[in-house]
Amino acid sequence: MDVEYLCHGVPLADYRLTKADHRRQQEAVQVHEWVQRQLAKAPPWSEERWQGLRQLLGSPTPPWELQRWQLRLYCGHVVEATRNRNSPRPDGGVCDKKRCPECGLDPAVIVAFRPLGPAAEPPTEIRSRKPGHSTRKPPADRRSKAELVAENNALRAELEALRDQA
Ligand SMILES: [Zn+2]
Repeated sequence: MDVEYLCHGVPLADYRLTKADHRRQQEAVQVHEWVQRQLAKAPPWSEERWQGLRQLLGSPTPPWELQRWQLRLYCGHVVEATRNRNSPRPDGGVCDKKRCPECGLDPAVIVAFRPLGPAAEPPTEIRSRKPGHSTRKPPADRRSKAELVAENNALRAELEALRDQA
């Protein structure tokens, strides 16, 4: 895969927050609070509905489809996360924030990042698949699919977090 992974705000340990970071964090908190308010009003979901939504999201991405990233979050903690390996950066779409596993800040926007490497080697039957065969798609299509998968993973994580709170 010839994705060129991007860096932002390295070295992560020395990163200083910008005005844009503060604004993004504020927006993320507002959206989060709005969602919480809507959820509080909504009737609780049945187990079947949760199952249905999980099915809709499909199966989780296999590890060899994932790239590992080091992220610096708004709170200053540096954590590791995975994203679909076709994404050149880890903060696209709804993936631009996460719950900080160190201090629990939720949401915490990603303010800086650097790529680490693939999460796993692909199993042999996938590696030995002939290049140029069915796996090759136009870049535009691949890109949008990668984004969809990334958003899908983020939704899944959010879903599980909500499920835990319910
Ligand atoms: Zn933190």
